[in-house]
Amino acid sequence: MKNFSNYNDFSRKEGLHFESKAVHGALGHEPLTGAVSFPIYQTSTFRHKELGTSTGYDYSRLQNPTRQELERTMAILENGLEGFALSSGQAANMIIFSWLNPGDHVVISDDVYGGTFRIADSIFANYGIRFTYVEMTDLEAVEAAITNRTKMFFVETPTNPLMKVVDVAAIADCARSIGAVTVVDNTFLTPYYQRPLDLGADIVVHSATKYLGGHNDTIAGVVVVKSQEMADHMRLQIKSHGNGLAALDSWLILRGLKTLPLRMERHNESAYKVAHWLREQTCVKRIYYVGFEDHPNYEITKRQTTGFGGMISFAVDSEETVKKILKNVDMIMFAESLGGTETLITYPTTQTHESIPEDVKQKLGITKEFLRISIGLEHVDDIIGDLAKVVS
Ligand SMILES: *Cc1c(COP(=O)(O)O)cnc(C)c1O
Repeated sequence: MKNFSNYNDFSRKEGLHFESKAVHGALGHEPLTGAVSFPIYQTSTFRHKELGTSTGYDYSRLQNPTRQELERTMAILENGLEGFALSSGQAANMIIFSWLNPGDHVVISDDVYGGTFRIADSIFANYGIRFTYVEMTDLEAVEAAITNRTKMFFVETPTNPLMKVVDVAAIADCARSIGAVTVVDNTFLTPYYQRPLDLGADIVVHSATKYLGGHNDTIAGVVVVKSQEMADHMRLQIKSHGNGLAALDSWLILRGLKTLPLRMERHNESAYKVAHWLREQTCVKRIYYVGFEDHPNYEITKRQTTGFGGMISFAVDSEETVKKILKNVDMIMFAESLGGTETLITYPTTQTHESIPEDVKQKLGITKEFLRISIGLEHVDDIIGDLAKVVS
C-alpha cells in the first residue's frame, strides 16, 4: 500500500527557493487526498489488513504522518538527511546527548541556554559524561579543552543571552580532525538566516517553540542530522523515550514554517531599529546585539549568516531600573521565551539562566542589571514607544 514514504519530496526539487519550500513543506500537498494543508493525523494507532502487512505506520509513538511531514520539511530547510520532531527543545537535546557513552567528553559553550546546562550538569554528568564549558569564540581555548575522550562539540550561536557568535566552520574542522561530532543549536537564527550543516556541523537542534513555531503557542523541538547512523540513533531514541511531537503540535509548527521567512525579515528589521534606539539611551550601559558593526564577532556574522535575527540583550544602570522596566512595560510582556509574534522581555538571571551557578553568571555578565528582549511583530514604533516610557 502507498504511504507518504513512497512519495518523493516535492521541495527537494532543484532550484526552489527557501520561501517556497517553507510554504509547501516536504510533499507540497497531501498526495492521497490533495489536501493543501497537510492533515492532522490524530490517531494513536493504525489498522493492518492482514498478518505481515502495514501501511508503513503502526503506532504514533513510532511514526505519524503529520510528524513525518514536519520532519521531512525540516530536513530540507536545514539541508540534512533526516529530521526529527520532539515534544520540546529540551527533549531534542536529550536525544542528542544520548549519542554519548560513559567516559565521553563534551566541549560546550559556556553561556548555553540554562536548560541545556541543566541537562548536562544534572543528568548526563551522572551517567559518566564529562563537560568542559568554554568560551567558544576563543579557538585556542576550545583546542586546549580537548581530551582523548572528546566526542562532541556543542555550540550555540549566537549564544543565549550574550549574543556571542561562534565560527561554526572552524569548530567543525577541529571536531572532524579528532573524530568528534559538532552540534549547533540554531534556535536564534533558524535555517532562514544560518545553515550549520552547510558550514560543516553534523547535527542541528532547535527549540521549535521559538521562531519555527513563531506564535508563542506551542512547545516543540527539532533535530536534523546528516548521516544515516545518526538518523537511526535518533529514531531509536524517539521510539524508546516516547518524546516524539504530537500530530496537532506538528501541524502548528508546519503552519508556523510557512511564514518563517516573512517573520524573520520583520524581526530582523525591527530589532535593528530597536538596538540602535537603545544605544542612545543613557540608562543603557551595554548592548549585546550581533548587528552592530562593532560587535566583536561581526566578521563571522557576515560570513556565516544572512541576517541578525530578532534578539537583543542589554544591561542597564541599576537593579532599580530593571524593576521599573519589568513593572511598567505595557504592550511588551515580561515573560520567558522568544521568537514569537509578541515582544517579550526576559530577566535571564532568575528565568532562562536560573540554573547557571551564580559565579559563572557574574563572570559572563548575566548580572542583576541584565535584560533580554525578543522583538516581536508589532509595529516597531509601538515597541520603541513602549520602551521609551521606561527606558531613557
Ligand atoms: C528555549 C530554548 C531551548 C529549550 O527549548 P524548549 O522548547 O523550551 O524545551 C534550548 N535552546 C535554546 C537556545 C532556547 O532558546
